[in-house]
Amino acid sequence: MTYEVTHFINGQSVATHSRALQLFNPALGEITGKVIMADETIVEKTVAAAHAAFPAWAATTPLKRARILFKFKYLLEQHLDELAKLITEEHGKTLADARGSIQRGIDVVEFACGIPHHLKGSYTEAVGTDIDSYSVRQPLGVCVGITPFNFPAMIALWMFPLSIACGNTFILKPSEKDPSCSYRLAELAKEAGVPDGVINVVQGDKEAVDLLLKHPTVKAISFVGSTTVAEHVYQTGTAHGKRVQAFGGAKNHCVVMEDADLDQTADAIVGAAYGSAGERCMALSVAVVVGDTLADAFIAKIKPRVSALKVGSGMMPHTEMGPLITKAHWERVKSYIDLGVKEGAKLLLDGRDYKPKGYENGFYMGGSLFDKVEPSMQIYREEIFGPVLSIVRVPDFARALQLVNEHEYGNGTAIFTRDGNTARTYASKVQAGMVGINVPIPVPVAYHSFGGWKRSLFGDLHMHGQEGVQFYTKLKTVTERWLKNSKGSDFGMPTH
Ligand code: NAD
Repeated sequence: MTYEVTHFINGQSVATHSRALQLFNPALGEITGKVIMADETIVEKTVAAAHAAFPAWAATTPLKRARILFKFKYLLEQHLDELAKLITEEHGKTLADARGSIQRGIDVVEFACGIPHHLKGSYTEAVGTDIDSYSVRQPLGVCVGITPFNFPAMIALWMFPLSIACGNTFILKPSEKDPSCSYRLAELAKEAGVPDGVINVVQGDKEAVDLLLKHPTVKAISFVGSTTVAEHVYQTGTAHGKRVQAFGGAKNHCVVMEDADLDQTADAIVGAAYGSAGERCMALSVAVVVGDTLADAFIAKIKPRVSALKVGSGMMPHTEMGPLITKAHWERVKSYIDLGVKEGAKLLLDGRDYKPKGYENGFYMGGSLFDKVEPSMQIYREEIFGPVLSIVRVPDFARALQLVNEHEYGNGTAIFTRDGNTARTYASKVQAGMVGINVPIPVPVAYHSFGGWKRSLFGDLHMHGQEGVQFYTKLKTVTERWLKNSKGSDFGMPTH
């Protein structure tokens, strides 16, 4: 029995007979359904619905919008297990991981519930004689969110709740690999009282994305995905006059110092490197270890932990690492491991042939561990996005910092140390947007903002938190004077 995932436009399911892609359960390696791709007609219909809904929604008071979001948050909590199951079935990650990611999305909905406060303007009395001035933030119009496969709920929830809280209407274009969760989120938003047309979901791929990027009615684009596509989205969107924040790939380094607690550090790094099969933009994929003695000791700690990883179906309660998203992605990760061997890195653990019993057709891979990875190697320079950790040995802290700073990506990073001064220097000097000190995955909480540096982010504003409010609104400053009597014309620049 297979299922079909359709579009959600103007509060309704819209099915068409256009192009469709197959959906898989990666744990079983079986086709489970199909998702219908949007063509120009569907994109036009969706933009028209979002555009038509905008004036009334923008005129709805922030307090009323917040009340609807409170209901939405409640519904998300009620449906948490159902949403987690949808994610695990299409993405493969463990149920516990899926639940955690939804909770991180709910945190952003909670932040969005405070929108009356976040939108409070500023007022200055007497900027000139009898003249006052105030600034307000107003919505943009139709906003678009394009999301990757790895967080079907969380990243969508980083975007649309805050965008609609600000008074915009929204079109979500989820990944074509695991689209069911986004559709369900939109249904729940409707149930919470979000009016028709305010949140829409179009299923699709490059065709739909490119139509949205060029559409004159669309005012802003939030994108999360790989760097090549992020750059394309940023360039095309801005060339068409839109505000764009485009989040790209990553190669997150952690630095392990001699004074770190090695057991705690090994535990933290194994979770951050192999959790969600390494398919996280904040996954730690490079461990930069200071000194050969420490590197040997670190390997002695980490190797047994990686070998003992429980790899299997994400639906099983004891699983720690599920399968990769698709067969094609499995092939890609495998080809990087093949390449690492060719490039001369030392493969300490090889996960390529791992097959859990009873799930032989699933897209599984065990944890792989490389030592003696060099900065010139392709497996070091490029994002693998799989359960592969590379160890790079460096002589000292200065070289570790230089290495991190020279990498083209700058999403997240972490340092493991007991020395406050080393930690402080690292946090201050490192060229990355999110830094952890003895914290392996430093994803900022909802009321701070998420975002990387360098080729991990094209655009200026980070996601959620106050920067999110700024992204989804434009500033207007009013200067007002209520004169009793006219003073005649003044042709100079007003200086008050
Ligand atoms: P992807 O770039 O393949 O796809 C992302 C989105 O773009 C999808 O909705 C997809 O349909 C669309 N898309 C794909 N190719 C396109 C094209 N040529 N033109 C227009 N649109 C296109 O990314 P993915 O494989 O779904 O996700 C994994 C990537 O996302 C990794 O690189 C990961 O690091 C990155 N990511 C980054 C962050 C971050 O915050 N920086 C967060 C999560 C994931």
